[in-house]
Amino acid sequence: MKVAIMGAGMSGLSCAITLEKHGITPTIFESRSIVGDRFINAEAMFGVLNRPAKDGIGYISENYHINLEPLERVQKLTIHSKNEIGNIEGRIGYTNVRGRHNNSYENQLARQVQSEINFNSTYDYPYLCKHFDCVVLATGDGQYSTDMGNYKCDLTVTIKGATVEGNFVTSNPQVWFNYDIIPKGYIWVIPFSEKEGNIVIAYPDYPDNIKLDIEVMWEKAYSLVCKDLKQNFKITDKFEITRYMMGICNKAKIDNTYFVGNCFGTISPGLGFGQFASILTGVYAAYDICNIGVYEELTKPLFENYNHSLTLRRFLESQTNEQMDTYIKSLDNKSLDYMIDRVCSNENGIDLMKLSTPVMRLWNNYKEHSHSR
Ligand SMILES: Cc1cc2nc3c(=O)[nH]c(=O)nc-3n(C[C@H](O)[C@H](O)[C@H](O)COP(=O)(O)OP(=O)(O)OC[C@H]3O[C@@H](n4cnc5c(N)ncnc54)[C@H](O)[C@@H]3O)c2cc1C
Repeated sequence: MKVAIMGAGMSGLSCAITLEKHGITPTIFESRSIVGDRFINAEAMFGVLNRPAKDGIGYISENYHINLEPLERVQKLTIHSKNEIGNIEGRIGYTNVRGRHNNSYENQLARQVQSEINFNSTYDYPYLCKHFDCVVLATGDGQYSTDMGNYKCDLTVTIKGATVEGNFVTSNPQVWFNYDIIPKGYIWVIPFSEKEGNIVIAYPDYPDNIKLDIEVMWEKAYSLVCKDLKQNFKITDKFEITRYMMGICNKAKIDNTYFVGNCFGTISPGLGFGQFASILTGVYAAYDICNIGVYEELTKPLFENYNHSLTLRRFLESQTNEQMDTYIKSLDNKSLDYMIDRVCSNENGIDLMKLSTPVMRLWNNYKEHSHSR
């Protein structure tokens, strides 16, 4: 069986590792000259977003023998709204590094792959289809899926970020929902180390937002983070991504083509997390190729998760700063911490996202109808 994997990122490499474990040597094509050859950034994986897994890293290690070393265990997530600060404490998840860094997740995955990676690849999908029995599309965005009429794009997002030097508590990422500064979006601060971290803004490209000046938004966000964390962060690197697609494919597999990672639609529109699901799609595609499972069946829960997350996105977008203040104020509550800790670490089947979806959907429908009246 001749298998081509297009893209040596999270999903493509996870697919390659799993194929090799079952005796298939894929041919991997990567357009860049080395794995992860892009800006370095810090990302996170949170248990509450990764159902059914409670501990994403433990889950993929135990179930799929893919081993990843995170930067740090997240013990506290601080959430800021315009006038309030709240914390969720417990075993929340992990932070990790991406991109050019030697220990980025893609580099860690690449070290677990035996097959050769063909760098600087210019082969396109039609060429690979012609020369291979099956093709795994793992290029990291929904473009190919869109071109094939197989993708529903729900929104695109502008992302601007910087690596900064300062003082960080590595187990404590922070997020801001302040719609005066980033309308319908957020600001993340994720530490790399005690001395380095990322500040990132992300917001949907709706007509009202497109009119805004990204540089002004970034400056305001950066000043807010400096003020709230009482530091003057020194910027050492910057990156910007425009029109980052958030959507999902209609079919996970068409003929012998598998859509994995962001080509499938693993990025969750609610908060922009996609690493865990990207690994799963890579593994599931390999299972199908090896006749261990059926890709369309294995990915069904991921379609559901995507829809829950889209409901969360619409819910967040419909909130005012005052409403966000009310939620965040109620966060410093030990019983809530206890509940989230149980959900994130125990072998129970509770899916907070799924449970809260009907309530959020009711609210979203109500808001939609009151707008159209
Ligand atoms: C700024 C930012 C912050 C994020 N933060 C988080 C976070 O905190 N937590 C989280 O879970 N997720 C986060 N995500 C999302 C997460 O990074 C993605 O969902 C995940 O990396 C997708 O994996 P993938 O395999 O689809 O793509 P990637 O890992 O991006 O891999 C795609 C690969 O395909 C290659 N490629 C592209 N085109 C071709 C081609 N034509 N031929 C050959 N190769 C090609 C690329 O060079 C790349 O190596 C973030 C994303 C961004 C942009």
